[in-house]
Amino acid sequence: MTICHTCGNYYENTFRIIKDGSSYEFDSFECAIHALAPICEHCGCRVIGHGVQDDANIFCSAHCASAAGVTGLMDHTPAELIVGAT
Ligand SMILES: [Zn+2]
Ligand SMILES: [Zn+2]
Repeated sequence: MTICHTCGNYYENTFRIIKDGSSYEFDSFECAIHALAPICEHCGCRVIGHGVQDDANIFCSAHCASAAGVTGLMDHTPAELIVGAT
């Protein structure tokens, strides 16, 4: 039984996420995403997949990176660059 970091729910089945050396308890993935998922620098949505990023910023997609003026990022890795791809 622990209290959720995000909503304060005292809940039986909380889980712990350690990020950047800090430990957080949550009662749901939704609350974990709300607290910890990065925010797209362009559209403001939560990035819950890999996203794309340059040195300083993370975006939900190559479209948002491009719209923010960041060039050269792709949503998909070309097949010829994937080890083991045929
Ligand atoms: Zn919660
Ligand atoms: Zn976006």
